[in-house]
Amino acid sequence: MNYVITAPEQASVAVAGTEQRFPVHRIYCVGRNYADHAREMGSSGREAPFFFMKPANAVLPAAAGQTATMPYPTLTSDLHHEIELVAAIGKGGSDIAVADAPGHIWGYAVGLDMTRRDLQADAKKLGRPWCIAKGFDASAPIAPITPVAQAADIAHAEIWLKVNGQTRQSGRIDQMIWNLAEIVSHLSRAWRLLPGDLIYTGTPAGVGAVQRGDVLEGGITGLTPLHVRVA
Ligand code: MN
Repeated sequence: MNYVITAPEQASVAVAGTEQRFPVHRIYCVGRNYADHAREMGSSGREAPFFFMKPANAVLPAAAGQTATMPYPTLTSDLHHEIELVAAIGKGGSDIAVADAPGHIWGYAVGLDMTRRDLQADAKKLGRPWCIAKGFDASAPIAPITPVAQAADIAHAEIWLKVNGQTRQSGRIDQMIWNLAEIVSHLSRAWRLLPGDLIYTGTPAGVGAVQRGDVLEGGITGLTPLHVRVA
């Protein structure tokens, strides 16, 4: 291709146990998908799932066994952690039925939906978009992806986050309000999903602030853990 400027680098994530990488196309995120977190953010009941996005190059991929360094972002003094199960789409489609959704998922990973909570609160108050609160550089740390074929059943897996060794978030994947198949189905009615799309599926209760120097360790039973240091 004869581009007029240098083409941007393809964002990608490590694949567990290999040198191969998963190319990232888009990043979708689900809001308020665990009842206890929905309550802590001030809502109740089973509202329809809602989505927001981060740019593909917001991924901060951690190599297996390594601690990724996340620079403390500008413009905030209230950087929050949200530990999440990430689904990696391997087969695209629109109007995907819930029963067919598992066949579109290539793999799973542990991810963090890092959030400028103060800017998100301002955006909510003013009815403005969340981009600046959610879609900033390095806002999507992610551990290596485990292919579905090699992953244990994660439907009832534990999900947790420790900050400096102290447990901050702890839940189970089966506490999601909308399960993974339902999320894929809903998303695919709004967008034609494509290979390379990542879906951050929401966080359990216990979100909170991190400071420069903090070390975050996130895990989901059966998946490669995520280690991030805030610098
Ligand atoms: Mn989130």
